[in-house]
Amino acid sequence: MTHEIAVIPGDGIGQEVTPAAVEVLEALDAVDFDFVEGEAGDAVEAETGEALPQETRDLAADADATLFGAAGETAADVILPLRQVVGSFANVRPARSYPGLDAVQPDTDIVFIRENTEGVYKGIESEIADGVTTCTRVITEDASEKIAEYGFDYAKRNGYDDVTIAHKANVMRTTDGLFLDTAEAVGQDRGADYDTALMDALAMHLVMSPEDYGVVVCPNLAGDMLSDLAAGLVGGLGLLPSANVGEDNALFEPVHGSAPDIAGEGIANPSAMILSAAMLLDHLGYDEQGDAVRAAVEQVLDDGPRTPDLGGDASTGDVTAAVIDEL
Ligand code: ATP
Ligand code: MG
Repeated sequence: MTHEIAVIPGDGIGQEVTPAAVEVLEALDAVDFDFVEGEAGDAVEAETGEALPQETRDLAADADATLFGAAGETAADVILPLRQVVGSFANVRPARSYPGLDAVQPDTDIVFIRENTEGVYKGIESEIADGVTTCTRVITEDASEKIAEYGFDYAKRNGYDDVTIAHKANVMRTTDGLFLDTAEAVGQDRGADYDTALMDALAMHLVMSPEDYGVVVCPNLAGDMLSDLAAGLVGGLGLLPSANVGEDNALFEPVHGSAPDIAGEGIANPSAMILSAAMLLDHLGYDEQGDAVRAAVEQVLDDGPRTPDLGGDASTGDVTAAVIDEL
């Protein structure tokens, strides 16, 4: 079966790491992908006035999955609508440490399952008087149930014993109260083990003992912040993949941005993007191939060439070739 994959490299190092991930996917014999490239970001906006042309939207909407690199100044005009195009309700952000690298916390393997449609990121803000502003936080039972179901299913599918529901229901009694009650009901329905954690205390515990956590289900803003915190624990932006998952479509992107400071030099670390491609493989049911790609990246991080962000002097191409060799 051939899968159509939309490939949107975007700006900056997106142009360098996205082809690297495509090369790795092409090296897998068992999977048949048809890659179709689309434009988005600063460059196409300068040319056409639109950061996300309709053609690219349609491409992502019709594809089986999308690989997205990064956008520069226009990031918000590109990635927010793209997440909508694929109907993404869950942002999946794994943060794991690799044995070969010096991490702040070398024993971390946490997957943040972040609600991706509401909370304060709904963007309902107003200035109600001079010097007085408000923001409306939207939490619905539907979205809370969906993210909790996704989190518990993800934990089961991927062998994580610990599910933690992050909340602040002692203060935000109505909104986080609904999030917490709804997520707990999902856990109880499934007869699953879970813990609940106040998100502020959780931030501290994640720094001190990340090994106690597996899957963490979070409201939108908390998930954004806690996952970045965990990124710092495991060793940096060049390593972290993510998935934006919808009902029957999904988009995969590195956590990092377009990195204009190193763009065009051929030295970007392709690991985050290649690991995002591994998540794409899982999503389409090629778990074995996804695992193989992760194992290859891990091996190269351990004893292969390293890009400058990890202290080496290898190029994006050297690292990509080493990963393909491992495969
Ligand atoms: P953007 O506005 O697109 O987010 P940015 O300036 O915030 O761009 P990021 O991409 O978020 O840049 O990167 C922040 C820092 O991390 C930069 O110094 C960048 O060089 C570095 N960095 C990010 N991704 C990588 C990577 N894949 N390999 C090496 N260094 C990276
Ligand atoms: Mg950035």
